[in-house]
Amino acid sequence: MNADDAHAIIRANVDRLRDQLRLWDWHIDVRCKRLNEGTAGQCQVQAPYLRASIEIDNEQVSDERELLHVLRHELVHVFCWPFHAYGEHVAEMTEGDSVDSAWTFYLERMVWSVEKLLDAAEKKVGKADV
Ligand SMILES: [Zn+2]
Repeated sequence: MNADDAHAIIRANVDRLRDQLRLWDWHIDVRCKRLNEGTAGQCQVQAPYLRASIEIDNEQVSDERELLHVLRHELVHVFCWPFHAYGEHVAEMTEGDSVDSAWTFYLERMVWSVEKLLDAAEKKVGKADV
């Protein structure tokens, strides 16, 4: 997907997705950037400042649906900010030795669980509208 299309889709949807996750008090920057192969999106969370920076590789998403999935996934990372803050705190205390693949695994599972919850909530809203 080209960067102009990706930016337009992000602009049209980021506020709605942020509101869905109740992240009104966060300042969240989203930009397109080339990332490592296999990484369509990434997120940096600065919990003490309620700031987050999301980067999405538009070249690694094929369509709007996939782009919105990546964007929502990274916003769920912001929603899970205590996991990020904990990981950073432990890394500072241990000079990076204790933040390992287990932490990443459980963080991703937490994000996945929240995504399933959002999917279920969207389907429930859809049924109520019928
Ligand atoms: Zn993730």
